[in-house]
Amino acid sequence: MTAADYRESLRAYKPRVFVNGHAVQSVADEPLLAPGVAGVGVTYDFAHRREHVPIMTARQGTSGNTVNRMLHINESSQDLLYKLEAVRLVCKTSGCAQRYLTHDALNGIFQSTRLTDDRHGTDYSQRFLAYLHDVQDKDLTLGVAMTDAKGDRSKRPGKQLNPDVYVHIKERREAGIVIRGTKAIVTGAPYMHEFLVMPCRTHVPEDSEFAVCCAVPCDAPGVTIIARPAGRPGEASAKFSGKYGQSVGVVIFDDVFVPYDRVFLAGETEEGGVLTTSYATHHRHSCIGARAGFGDLLIGAGALMIEANGLDVAHHAHIREAMVELITITEGFYACGVASSVYCTKDPAGSVMPDAVFANIGKLLLATKIYDMHRLAHYVSGGLIVALPGPEEDHNPETRASLSAVMRGRPDIPATQRAEVARLVEDLTVSHEAGWYSVISLHGGGSPEAMKREIWRNYPVMEKIDLVEGLLDRGMLDEGRRVSRQPGRCCTTGCQVPEPAGSQ
Ligand SMILES: Cc1cc2nc3c(=O)[nH]c(=O)nc-3n(C[C@H](O)[C@H](O)[C@H](O)COP(=O)(O)OP(=O)(O)OC[C@H]3O[C@@H](n4cnc5c(N)ncnc54)[C@H](O)[C@@H]3O)c2cc1C
Repeated sequence: MTAADYRESLRAYKPRVFVNGHAVQSVADEPLLAPGVAGVGVTYDFAHRREHVPIMTARQGTSGNTVNRMLHINESSQDLLYKLEAVRLVCKTSGCAQRYLTHDALNGIFQSTRLTDDRHGTDYSQRFLAYLHDVQDKDLTLGVAMTDAKGDRSKRPGKQLNPDVYVHIKERREAGIVIRGTKAIVTGAPYMHEFLVMPCRTHVPEDSEFAVCCAVPCDAPGVTIIARPAGRPGEASAKFSGKYGQSVGVVIFDDVFVPYDRVFLAGETEEGGVLTTSYATHHRHSCIGARAGFGDLLIGAGALMIEANGLDVAHHAHIREAMVELITITEGFYACGVASSVYCTKDPAGSVMPDAVFANIGKLLLATKIYDMHRLAHYVSGGLIVALPGPEEDHNPETRASLSAVMRGRPDIPATQRAEVARLVEDLTVSHEAGWYSVISLHGGGSPEAMKREIWRNYPVMEKIDLVEGLLDRGMLDEGRRVSRQPGRCCTTGCQVPEPAGSQ
């Protein structure tokens, strides 16, 4: 599909959606959601642009068909690199194109269904493969319904006062399951074709009914979506997020029937945990590309602001340093994404998994450095980004001429151009939308603690211990080879064990 086709395709669905307290009659025509639809649309249009075809499309090995990169199951390190580049491309164009979440979930479920089948003799992977091919053929966008409302964070699902704070299997029927509960944070919820419901944590065996993964159309009976507007629609000063934005919604599943051909996990708690981790690793890898795209926007806007202010980085070291710091942060975490792609591992399902340590380090870096990225953009721009009178003043006959005469920086750059860049920096780093970029960077794909745990769990600390022990055991001269701590073999040259006193 093209972006226009995607928007039209939404008319075939009749989801129950509320935004700002009002029922939405037509998602495709709702102005409050238009920037979100446009953001996802970039992933469709770019797959048709000749210059982007190599990274925006891929050949799906299981079908031989060419599919959108956002729906592809990665088969090689090259695939992961292309996906990383594709996510950066669509996000530097739209801020956040959202559809990469679909990719991350499809890859996680592809791996976990195979594992569950291997361990339990189930047929989830066949069901999923049929579903995957259907999604690819129809070129759909799927929302990720993973983060449950969770209730009291100190208690597991089965101990919550209200079990509906986690999505769970309420009933098992001959033809399918009935699910119930709430997913609290779903990106793009109002304009997704379907939702992929997944567990957001590892569940204990007593909570097996909470370990559920399935696909649910956005307008399945019992589904309600309560969302925020996407971006800053209709705001005159929203240079960027008036056009591209992201809605986030709560999705309530009120006794929703799901036929078995759409069920990919139903009670297997251990494999549910693997699914959560696998999705998280793919997603953190994608987040790196997404936020690098955001970094590209800040770097470009910062450089333009410096120019409009009349400064030259070649002559002003502190401004250059700030820009170099912004570049170092952006390319630093992006490099982790590249490393994670290069050091991927083959999964028994036949796909590849990005290296978990590098994916988690990259995501952890962007999560915490996003605030520095905003600071650096503020530092080089100056206070104009919050002080400039609103765009209505641009047309005020009483103030327009005098304002543009004194609000110019560099003589050859008109005040209107300087104002445009200032409003873009405001939009990206100061506005409500800017806050969205901060919080999605910090918590999206899991809060920082989750990444720290994964880094510690996957990092080969034992190898480093062996390395140092080996060096210590043999006087650091045997090139790391572990020898022995036995008496007489405690150094590289060997030595005589002293005879115990009185043995002669
Ligand atoms: C803009 C945005 C978009 C998102 N999009 C999606 C999406 O499309 N799909 C999706 O499924 N999710 C999405 N998420 C959700 C994201 O994965 C979660 O925000 C994240 O996992 C954290 O969960 P939470 O927000 O419930 O915060 P909490 O879990 O409440 O965490 C808040 C803090 O409390 C700590 N904490 C939580 N529980 C415990 C505990 N038991 N013990 C000790 N400390 C604890 C955490 O470490 C964290 O520091 C999105 C988030 C954002 C912000």
